[in-house]
Amino acid sequence: MQELPCCPVCQSENSYPDEGVIICADCGYEWDPAHSEVAEQDERIVKDCNGNQLVSGDTVILIKDLKLKGSSQVLKKGSKAKNIRLVDGDHEIDCKIDGSAIMLKACFVKKG
Ligand SMILES: [Zn+2]
Repeated sequence: MQELPCCPVCQSENSYPDEGVIICADCGYEWDPAHSEVAEQDERIVKDCNGNQLVSGDTVILIKDLKLKGSSQVLKKGSKAKNIRLVDGDHEIDCKIDGSAIMLKACFVKKG
């Protein structure tokens, strides 16, 4: 069975396809699924300290020592984080360094 996207207006799951568009049974909103995918994408652009755009899957390198919140651990300048994931919030990068899950600010890294 084809999975239909939720209504982008009211988040209802009661949507149904009709002649190339999808209609929400709850609020009546109609949309074109071919275009809604673009709208659903996170278009936020995250840039490193040099202004290079970062994307999920990139490798980044710390440009300064960072103290980890709530612990005495310090992430050393030059530490590499592979296969980063971009997330919302003031820390844009979700990654692992030395096996620990860490959130980083993009302004403290450069693309590796
Ligand atoms: Zn709706």
